[in-house]
Amino acid sequence: MLLDELMANLAAKKERIIDIRRYLHEHPELSFQEEETAKYIEEFYREVPVDAVETNFGGNRGIVVTIKGTKPGKTIAIRADFDALPIKEETDLPFASKNEGVMHACGHDGHTAYMLVLAETLAEHKEQLKGTIKVIHQPAEEKPPGGAIGMIKAGVLEGVDAIFGIHVMTNMETGKIFYRSGNTQTGRSYFKLVVKGKGGHGSSPHLANDAIVAASSFVMNLQTIVSRRINPFDTASITIGNFDGKGTFNVIKDTVTLEGDVRTMSPGTRETVENEVRAFAEGLERSYGVKVDLEYKNDYPVLCNDPEITEHVALVLAKASIPEVEAVLETPPQPPSEDFAYYLEKVPGCFFYVGATPESGEAYPHHHPKFDINEKSLIISAKAMAAVVASYCDGSE
Ligand code: MN
Repeated sequence: MLLDELMANLAAKKERIIDIRRYLHEHPELSFQEEETAKYIEEFYREVPVDAVETNFGGNRGIVVTIKGTKPGKTIAIRADFDALPIKEETDLPFASKNEGVMHACGHDGHTAYMLVLAETLAEHKEQLKGTIKVIHQPAEEKPPGGAIGMIKAGVLEGVDAIFGIHVMTNMETGKIFYRSGNTQTGRSYFKLVVKGKGGHGSSPHLANDAIVAASSFVMNLQTIVSRRINPFDTASITIGNFDGKGTFNVIKDTVTLEGDVRTMSPGTRETVENEVRAFAEGLERSYGVKVDLEYKNDYPVLCNDPEITEHVALVLAKASIPEVEAVLETPPQPPSEDFAYYLEKVPGCFFYVGATPESGEAYPHHHPKFDINEKSLIISAKAMAAVVASYCDGSE
């Protein structure tokens, strides 16, 4: 049985996955600047019997590795991201970041570590594989427009029948795998509104046109979009995270810049929120006599897992009886946005979660300066993805 052999081979490499993860953790790089990480990945494959290693795929140092089975079959893509975040690490791990102000605080070090060793293991079992496996090492997940888009434009999904990805999650229990069918992670939008009024003195407000007052009404009105325009059974959130109104206490401000974040769970809601934000911004001109300039950008879409494939994945993972896995469970939707969603807009697939709460039980959220994963999640990720791949590419029977 191919899967049994893959599992045994991976089990023997458990410590190596951890070593790789620790090395990557020590050497994090920011999105779109991952030069050394890309070199490390490329170097890793030098001795591995894969069929092709394409570097700088899509122009941002993405790497695509092809492993061809000996019999015809489906083409399956598996993806791991490799960028880190602009965060100053506050863990006291012996392998803490050596790159001041940059940190693997989302587990992408772990994703890359398990994926490298899994790819090597699959290549070692090529004779027993059918079809083609494309391993996508993706840069820049953390920073819009994200690394996925460029790789898709460069053709990474050509001929791909299905795509899979894993995220390790510290807020999910180690030893458990979670999945969800359909809309699973939020879509994200960004907007920037510049409100231009007319400056003046606090003693003569009638001669001025206060941009702070107009912008404040916009902030308050925005919060009625979710409560009054969105179906209560659907969800959205709108946040103004930047309100640039700093000035002098008795001077009426002539210009204010606002920046906001929108999260939605369906394409329809996304459109509704955008239309409403636009309407409120335009309404300011009429209500307050100001001029507005609105920039509204939809970035990562809603991540939608294919129902049929997700059902298949859940079944395969349950049947794989991975010794380190005690349960495979359905999860509620997840709030973060994730650029894996772009792949799923093009080809069906499933993005699922491997629990990674640290041994101590103290789980810092993703993007926290004390974030750390339970390294048991790495071998689990490798074995889980091996099971999914084998369910499509086992040519040994
Ligand atoms: Mn992430």
